[in-house]
Amino acid sequence: MPSTNPTPKKILVAVAWPYASGERHIGHVAGFGVPSDTFARYHRLAGNDVLMVSGTDEHGTPVMVAADAAGESPRDTADRYSQLIREDFRELGLSYDLFTRTTTQNHYRVVQDLFRTLYEKGYIIEQTTRGAFSAAGTTLPDRYIEGTCPICGYPDARGDQCDNCGNQLDPEDLINPRSKLDGTPPVFKETQHLFLDLPAFTAELTDWIESHTEWRPNVRRFSLNFVQDLKPRAITRDLDWGVPIPVPGYVDRDDKRIYVWFDAVIGYLSAAVEWAAWRGTPDAWREWWQNPEAEHFYFMGKDNIVFHTVIWPSILLGYGSGGEVGAGRGRLELPSEIVSSEFLTMEGKRFSVSRGVGIYIRDFLSRYDPDALRYFLSIAGPEMQDTDFTWAEFARRNNDELVSTWGNLVNRTLQSAYRNFGVVPEPDELTESDRALLAEIEQGFETVGGFIESARFKNGLQEAMRLAALANRYISGQEPWAMIKDDRGRAETILYVALRAVDNLKILLTPYLPFSAQVLHESLGYDGWLAGPLEFHDVEEEGESHVVLTGPYETWIGRWKPSALPPGQELREPRPLFRKLDPEMVVSEEIARMEEAAAA
Ligand SMILES: [Zn+2]
Repeated sequence: MPSTNPTPKKILVAVAWPYASGERHIGHVAGFGVPSDTFARYHRLAGNDVLMVSGTDEHGTPVMVAADAAGESPRDTADRYSQLIREDFRELGLSYDLFTRTTTQNHYRVVQDLFRTLYEKGYIIEQTTRGAFSAAGTTLPDRYIEGTCPICGYPDARGDQCDNCGNQLDPEDLINPRSKLDGTPPVFKETQHLFLDLPAFTAELTDWIESHTEWRPNVRRFSLNFVQDLKPRAITRDLDWGVPIPVPGYVDRDDKRIYVWFDAVIGYLSAAVEWAAWRGTPDAWREWWQNPEAEHFYFMGKDNIVFHTVIWPSILLGYGSGGEVGAGRGRLELPSEIVSSEFLTMEGKRFSVSRGVGIYIRDFLSRYDPDALRYFLSIAGPEMQDTDFTWAEFARRNNDELVSTWGNLVNRTLQSAYRNFGVVPEPDELTESDRALLAEIEQGFETVGGFIESARFKNGLQEAMRLAALANRYISGQEPWAMIKDDRGRAETILYVALRAVDNLKILLTPYLPFSAQVLHESLGYDGWLAGPLEFHDVEEEGESHVVLTGPYETWIGRWKPSALPPGQELREPRPLFRKLDPEMVVSEEIARMEEAAAA
């Protein structure tokens, strides 16, 4: 069982960085936000040392385009959306050890160290290439060029990548290229850039990917296929917004910057370095990054696999233990597991973010509870296949599963025990069926834990809910409330068994439903935080400061092991865990809202 691990494991949870170019919608947290948090919370409960990092990705063209549209500087846009995203993630309970930003001095220092080291080792080479410029003469970023994919013929391929066949592209390869901004054809001109020499890593990458037989088959197959035909990849851009290029011939140029994708993946490392420094233990990050025993889990959408199985590993392999940051203290570790998710569509693709209609996290949480959203995304999210979000299904699962199964079990057990006894009742000897129920539920620590460890979050939650249904049937069959007058002793035993079942299920569900688990924890008479509030902190740098999202997780008290609920413990007045929704009202109001947004 996980909780009996004698030595805690070092678990790095590296979560994809959202662009600070707009508010985030629920699709962004469906694929990797909520799953990675469930994973991190589980491992903390299991006694492992978790380091969960991410932040807002603030460079590159998406932020520049948003800034242009708003008539402000990229920095202003990044500041605004970084704050909104950070607040949304706190409200949803995403328990990062550090959720930071890519515009920090620390990030610049780490990125430039990796870039410089790769350059000095000969892994970065200069090439003249043809860049795309708008008719007016300004740089036209790859993502803002569209055309027909030369490989599969998909008509709406982007300049950097085809979303249909997944291949990375050069904008100039597109058939009939056009600017996404004004529809005009781009002008291609010669320009000098620095390229990461990916072919230098072909053999090492192939061996490494082949060795990971446990990866999801689509990730492994796709990556292996990809490394068979690697080409040097440009890692600089003709832009003035980004990390300056720290090598000769580029260092003073303000018209060229490091490519946003190169800097963003380094954020996993720089955020760990920042976390350690902020805690006053500046070398602590090395226990995850320069420790071959540590395990590194990366969470992302399927469109970003190649950056995590090819480009980032190449950077890590090339850097080795070199540079100022590595300090010769061991090579930087490669990813252990790549957890990629599929896409979440909305209402049968009637609505899409590209049409300007998303369901924004903030908006969602203004009307519904965070655990209701976390439940839906865990049980019906795009874990293994593209999935459609519908309001009808959200309301149905909330009412029929969350409220009727788990909420109902908690409610009638706690109400009955609280009203009749006020404390956890003292049991007589347990019957065979009492013991059988508890044994089966306690088995959940192995089964649910095993599912979460292998990133099968839906299976884990289904199993926990199956056990909740079992406990519900137990208490319906035993009817303790009917025997309180005639056989108070037996009623006490049944309620004790049911409370212990509920206490076990509380822990099994904490990684998924932390807010309701904390409420239940208090009703059961415990003190302290099982899943406490997250916190913002200021981090000071020379002449600047920025805000990070974090939490005092080492002070939280739950453990991934069977309940030892003490008889006699004073109960507190039960509070409802979930709210029942009116399905017709939810559907009609929400669809009307989306239609209004689409028409605007
Ligand atoms: Zn294609």
